[in-house]
Amino acid sequence: MSSLEKNRSKLVALLAKPGSGNNSCADCLDTDPDWASSNLGVFLCTKCAGFHRNLGSHISKVKSLRLDNWESHQVEFMDANGNMVAKEKFEKNVPLFYRHPGPNDPDVLREQWIRAKYDRKEFTGPEPVHYLQGGVKEGYLYKRGKDDHRFQLRRFFLNEHDYTLRYFVKENKEPKDVIPIQDMNACFCPLKMSNPNGMQITYLKDGNSRCLYLYSEDGKDIVDWYNAIRAAKMTLNRVAFPGTKDKVLARRLVRDFIKEGWLWKTGPSGKESYKQRWFSLDDRRLMYFNQPMDAYPIKDIFLGTEEEGYKVREGLPPGFREKEQTYGFTLKIPGREFKLCADAHDERQSWMKVLMQVFQRPLSPQDNSARFR
Ligand SMILES: [Zn+2]
Repeated sequence: MSSLEKNRSKLVALLAKPGSGNNSCADCLDTDPDWASSNLGVFLCTKCAGFHRNLGSHISKVKSLRLDNWESHQVEFMDANGNMVAKEKFEKNVPLFYRHPGPNDPDVLREQWIRAKYDRKEFTGPEPVHYLQGGVKEGYLYKRGKDDHRFQLRRFFLNEHDYTLRYFVKENKEPKDVIPIQDMNACFCPLKMSNPNGMQITYLKDGNSRCLYLYSEDGKDIVDWYNAIRAAKMTLNRVAFPGTKDKVLARRLVRDFIKEGWLWKTGPSGKESYKQRWFSLDDRRLMYFNQPMDAYPIKDIFLGTEEEGYKVREGLPPGFREKEQTYGFTLKIPGREFKLCADAHDERQSWMKVLMQVFQRPLSPQDNSARFR
């Protein structure tokens, strides 16, 4: 075995070194890293390695574990460092509300995490970075018009002192809306919005779910807004649930949608034609829209538990026919049945599975208050 081959096998063996954390990506925790940064001493998945490469080799020198040549001193450096050692250094001070990216998260979260961690070194100082200056954040974001659907710059103002997010259409005028952050949700929807930095905000307005579609041209800016919203919600949670551990509160900040996609829906009689609707499952709320980026859903359905009569089953009730070449299922809620069809068999199974999981989950006190909102 040549010395290069020996180095490579030593390096690959480091993936399994006990307590090293090297068996999952240092940044998104995806399994089986294939790459490493030879100067930062971390093992990485393919996607995160790509964002490391974008930082430039003066910050991170990316190499393939199996295809590149490794010198003995480089392997020794990787052995002396590794993912857990780097975590202690680069993630010393990550605020609890900060969103760590997972293997399936949008690229903007992954990229900004990597930039914050290794380039801006936001988490290595003695004090955490503040996403709200003096409890407020203000700036401009592109917002999609409710009627004309055009994205235009609007001023946004997040205030941790009264727990609101305001936005303004005209300067020095009253805000267009004052959004209490208590029931407000924020999540990234890059695919639906065809924009890598696209973020959706959902809140309650006059008893309906109102959706805002926002983006910033700058990835750091939109992720800073997202984390500022999380920070403000953390402050609110501390007041609303005194005595609850911060770690627990940090899990209740904002939510990603469980699932979104097109389904066909027919009316109650069995005679109506099928209409295609965009469905979004947000925790215990199922919303359906005429178009994916509508400001308001056509309907917003609270989902309770199996014991209360919420059910989903394959196929349609007697008297109903599936739309040609689709796969039907029935969603039953107390007093109503929804007859739905998915374009693919797997898609139907996937919807049924996530709905069933919601029905099997016990209701929390927050869930119950959401039911009557
Ligand atoms: Zn990764």
